Amino acid sequence: MTKVSYLIAGAVLAACLGVVANAQQPAQQPAAPPFATTKVEGTDNVYVFRYGNHQAMFVVTSAGVIATDPIGYGRPQAVVTYVDEIKKVSTQPIKYLIYSHHHFDHIAGGKPFKDAGATIVAHKRAKERLAVIKDPHTVLPDETMDTTRTITLGDTVLELSYLGLNHSDSTIVMRLPKQKILFAVDFIPVGSVPGRGMIDTYPLELEESIKKVLAMEWDKLIPGHPGQPGGRLGTKKDVQDQLAFLQDASEAVKVAARQGQCWDGVEKGMKLPKYESWPNYANGLQFILRRYCALWGRGT
Ligand SMILES: [Zn+2]
Repeated sequence: MTKVSYLIAGAVLAACLGVVANAQQPAQQPAAPPFATTKVEGTDNVYVFRYGNHQAMFVVTSAGVIATDPIGYGRPQAVVTYVDEIKKVSTQPIKYLIYSHHHFDHIAGGKPFKDAGATIVAHKRAKERLAVIKDPHTVLPDETMDTTRTITLGDTVLELSYLGLNHSDSTIVMRLPKQKILFAVDFIPVGSVPGRGMIDTYPLELEESIKKVLAMEWDKLIPGHPGQPGGRLGTKKDVQDQLAFLQDASEAVKVAARQGQCWDGVEKGMKLPKYESWPNYANGLQFILRRYCALWGRGT
């Protein structure tokens, strides 16, 4: 290689390493174990399985286990661990695996669940997308739903609802009406600023989805990434705060966009000082500003 090629190769390598380092930035404390299974306080059958910085809900019923999101993107061992963790707390068969939305970081790696006999359920749009992309590590759903579906298994009822476009076009929220628990992935970060996920978010519709979540009856929200700080669950106050953050960011960019400040002026100069202390502000701001510039400064 010439000297220039070495320099380019070095720069590319550094860029790749940078991406990897960012992607693996732990939201947990450095001492947090790689995975954990936690029973949700106040219940005797609802669990959160966390692996790294992703998490999923599973429910043990009198007639089998309902699992969600295999969270195995780039790490098939996480899914083997997930199934093993379920077996530690229940001898019941795993009957269902429900995908929260089509993004691979949440739903890749489901084969061990399929092999265990689980029926995979997702929104119909998730199946359409997965069928086109053909990711070799992501198992296609067996069954799909459109707007609502209720899964009744033994003594447990789980409601699945599609609330419209938001963080993706295939997101379903899962609610346990008896336990008043909601599992909602990625469109409502708990206690932190959203980040890369803004890239394919539908910003106007997202606000409407969040308002629908606020109107539902629940006490605890299990997020798809550990809540901040300390991996906590979310409350309605967290959901209201997230909505206010998005509305403030949207309004600020709208004003600037109409003065011709998108892309460069906003991306390089805008700050949202009210939210500086929120986790992920420094990393996430660029993605938020870019998404709202696309909306208000471009029309998309
Ligand atoms: Zn996502």
